[in-house]
Amino acid sequence: MPRSLDYPDMDKILSLSKRRGFIFQSSEIYGGLGSTWDYGPLGVELKRHVKEAWWKSVVVDRDDMVGLDSAILMHPRVWEASGHVENFSDPLVECRSCHRRFRSDQLSEDKCPECEGTLTEARNFNLMFRTYMGPVEETGQEVFLRPETAQGIFVNFPNVVNATRKKLPFGIGQIGKAFRNEITPGNFTFRTREFEQMEVEFFVKPGTDEEWLHSWVQSRFEWYVSFGIRRQNLRLRRHDPDELAHYAKDTYDIEYRFPWGWGELEGIADRTDFDLQRHDQFSGESLSYFDDESKERYFPYVIEPSGGVDRATLAFWLDSYDEESEQSTEEKQQGNIRVVSHLHRKLAPITVAVLPLSRNERLNPTSRSVYDLIRRNFNAQFDDAQSIGRRYRRQDEIGTPYCVTVDFDTLEDNQVTVRDRDTMNQVRLPISKLTEVLHDKLEHGW
Ligand code: ATP
Repeated sequence: MPRSLDYPDMDKILSLSKRRGFIFQSSEIYGGLGSTWDYGPLGVELKRHVKEAWWKSVVVDRDDMVGLDSAILMHPRVWEASGHVENFSDPLVECRSCHRRFRSDQLSEDKCPECEGTLTEARNFNLMFRTYMGPVEETGQEVFLRPETAQGIFVNFPNVVNATRKKLPFGIGQIGKAFRNEITPGNFTFRTREFEQMEVEFFVKPGTDEEWLHSWVQSRFEWYVSFGIRRQNLRLRRHDPDELAHYAKDTYDIEYRFPWGWGELEGIADRTDFDLQRHDQFSGESLSYFDDESKERYFPYVIEPSGGVDRATLAFWLDSYDEESEQSTEEKQQGNIRVVSHLHRKLAPITVAVLPLSRNERLNPTSRSVYDLIRRNFNAQFDDAQSIGRRYRRQDEIGTPYCVTVDFDTLEDNQVTVRDRDTMNQVRLPISKLTEVLHDKLEHGW
């Protein structure tokens, strides 16, 4: 649907996110903790819906995928085998005057962007968080918080093959927390030190990897579009050869046009057989695959679509925000603006709001019974405070696709009004048909 805004003002989004309970600064009463964020009552629902949409699309709806939920703490040898101990670092420089630290590859000049002071030589700073397992803090007990969920999938490859009897090509999907001690976190939830990833490792026969890479790039790109991100705000960017990670043969990033510029939502990499080979070597266990058809044993190649839950949630939230001038002449003259979030109906934190016309005792029992009916079926909210116009605005602002209004006629004819957030059209429906119609709208979006 046509929009008034290309992209929103970040200050408005920050304030709306806090005011309505989407995202709060973590440990705010203690002054916050560097770039960590908490999802409030609405944010947690939005983020949960993003994860559900991803899980359904890449795991449930596909015959060639299964799921996994591996531990955050893994054997330290995992990170030696994966190359993270050696390679997972960014070049760090420090300002000699103000002692602020920066990633030298993100600076356009050779001086401090804050105070123009001179900078130290760059040194490699490993981004993995370290901690200790058990009661004794010794180097032997040192473990890492995983910087990606992928390795939990690779080390379970033989377990999954044995347990499921899956044949190539097939993949394993996982959603979970990852931690990186980023040198310069920022831009709200875009770059944080604790975040969630949604990753697929898709195992294929070597030689078919390029075809599969393109098929995953295509389907992952279309997923963002199908859940409401405007095509003009998305682009694909292929990595230059000198930019490829140590394990990758080819990589495409899906980027979103954030208010501060283009930024990565998801990377889709051809990881070759690097990880399986390395874990095979380092663990002494076999991670190769026996192909029944060709009677050969080999290491599968791996296509990895790796996305960030927080970045996707932020992009869906930003892209849905709009400010519309009101429809009626009177309201236009008053310069009224309707703030509306056009979140996809399946992502919106609240799917249906039940709004009695007024807080009248006669309406209350019917309104409550409509609400009970709705909340058994949908994420629902009941709101009877203030004027109905204000309550519609409140729901528009948080992206609720459907509002059900109970009025005095309802008491006579058992019908309610259903209002559509985007068109603001209203239709009257019998209460007996309500859940069926709403389910149908939710599924087919008419
Ligand atoms: P960037 O170049 O932005 O640091 P990356 O290429 O290091 O990202 P990957 O290692 O490919 O990221 O991780 C896969 C996905 O995990 C990214 O596309 C992103 O959505 C998410 N992600 C990575 N780092 C962060 C972070 N610090 N905060 C939030 N999400 C992140």
